[in-house]
Amino acid sequence: MRYAVFSDVHANLEAFEAVLGALKTLAIDKYLFVGDIVGYGADPRECVALLKQIGALSVAGNHDWAAARLLEPDDFTENAQEAVLWTWEHITDAEKTFLSGLPLVGEQGDICCVHGTLFHPEEFDYMTDGYKAMGTFDRLKQKICFVGHLHRPGIFVETEERVVFKPAQDLALQAGKRYIINVGSVGQPRDADQRACLCVYDDAASTVEFRRVAYDVASAQKKILAAGLPAYLAERLILGE
Ligand code: ZN
Repeated sequence: MRYAVFSDVHANLEAFEAVLGALKTLAIDKYLFVGDIVGYGADPRECVALLKQIGALSVAGNHDWAAARLLEPDDFTENAQEAVLWTWEHITDAEKTFLSGLPLVGEQGDICCVHGTLFHPEEFDYMTDGYKAMGTFDRLKQKICFVGHLHRPGIFVETEERVVFKPAQDLALQAGKRYIINVGSVGQPRDADQRACLCVYDDAASTVEFRRVAYDVASAQKKILAAGLPAYLAERLILGE
């Protein structure tokens, strides 16, 4: 099976459509979505519809649960809180029900998906270092755990002795090792590269490839400004931060 694994679309329809377009030639069998379909961008309804249409196995991000009022966004930044409120006002009850029904953890074969970490996934902690990675490896039953939330792609590898961080790079998975892979963000990358980011995992070949896809950033920015969302949410798309 070939899986497209992606995260943090954040209501950026231009980025989401560009990614799905780019994946058309890559013989994808199944889509895995690692959370945050809404929040920050101007097209939450269209992005939820597209996510349902492709039949992705999906888990909840903190923005998904906040927009459905399952989570109080107390520790969100001011811009993020404004975006949560705006999203709440612009999606339907049916979409809120869909978002609140997203599970925290998804499992498929040798894959586990969680937005933040497997240690109390409902707290949406960030996979920032080896200690966080160890906490997730301790709870991981599969070979690979795909995560998002940081909006920066990267890899933690667990060998018999230790956990090692590697920058995002194409991987040939090795027997006896396990992996936590941050797939980056489709709709709001924060690694100084404005292009949408995602991974393709081929379980027969045992490979993970990172992909970057250029999209129409200017259109996404215009929509954010026209919607009355904070201007910084438009600015940061071009900066990749
Ligand atoms: Zn996010």
